[in-house]
Amino acid sequence: MKNRVLSLLLALLLLLAGCDLLPEAGEPPREVSESSVWAMDTQMDLRLYGDTDGTVMAALTALLNRLDHSLSATAADSTLSALNESGWTDDAELVYLASNAGTISAQTEGALDITLLPASRCWGFGSGSYGVPAAADLEALRDKVGMDKLTVADGALSLANGTKLDLGALAKGYAADLCRAEMEQAGISGILSLGGNIQTVGSKPDGSDWIIGVQDPDDAGRYLLTLRFSGTKAAVTSGDYQRYFMQDSVRYCHILDPKTLSPVQGSLRAVTVIAEQGLLADGLSTALFVLGREAGTVLWRQRSDFEAVWIEADGTVTVTEGLSDAVKDADVTVVKR
Ligand code: AMP
Ligand code: MG
Repeated sequence: MKNRVLSLLLALLLLLAGCDLLPEAGEPPREVSESSVWAMDTQMDLRLYGDTDGTVMAALTALLNRLDHSLSATAADSTLSALNESGWTDDAELVYLASNAGTISAQTEGALDITLLPASRCWGFGSGSYGVPAAADLEALRDKVGMDKLTVADGALSLANGTKLDLGALAKGYAADLCRAEMEQAGISGILSLGGNIQTVGSKPDGSDWIIGVQDPDDAGRYLLTLRFSGTKAAVTSGDYQRYFMQDSVRYCHILDPKTLSPVQGSLRAVTVIAEQGLLADGLSTALFVLGREAGTVLWRQRSDFEAVWIEADGTVTVTEGLSDAVKDADVTVVKR
């Protein structure tokens, strides 16, 4: 009971990864402004400090609306759809995203793969006609799928015949990076929740820490742990509860394992990645979800540009050493270097 009351009280102070921004505790500072945008198939909540005349909020809204359109794999007239139709582009943004995806993919044993669109469709993601496809239908997609089907050279991106890109694993992180740049240029701070991709920029006016709640995969209104930190960071969660369907009591989630072209199955329910760059945090969160906790910890030991939280089906919460000071009020296992 005591824990429950504490949970409710803290929820008032928290921003939950995967939820709307929650109200500030107490009297909000006068310079705070808030707005919500529907973009990239999700609600995006923006809270800015010091945007006194609203110009930054207007710029971020326009930016998110622009990306919503250009990076959509479903809008027939988007820049991405034009690429998927023609197989070639020199659009700087798409070239940048594809080349970054290629780097992250190469660093994660191919776990990040932005060519899985036809496989996702085969499982019903996108259309809503969910179902387990015949193995032969999936295998028939092999010649269109795989990061070796895309080539970046001389500022252009080309796709092998019939290959189509889906930037869903990276787009929100990239959007957060662009928002952050806009805010830094204007000299303001704030916190953004782009459909659960959290981006903090600068410091809160009162100097207190940013507080982020990591959502319970089984209860959107509850968090399993809270993270506190200062400064500019991206915290991105990939999980099996965000988009999925059930068939014969099996959960099929929206993140596919490129090796099997099928939804990731395993003990992992969610992974949160905290990094400086939104694009990296987003790409890695998807890849780490595919890799699973053990391979993810091996990757973490090899590099120093991210921290992570793994939540497993049995309720186990594991965090990397760099977060041990940031984690409050939770029973967690800490992975050391
Ligand atoms: P995220 O929520 O960032 O983990 O991204 C998941 C989205 O990326 C899915 O909804 C698909 O559109 C796409 N996707 C699914 N599996 C993968 C994968 N292994 N690599 C890259 N993109 C993926
Ligand atoms: Mg991602």
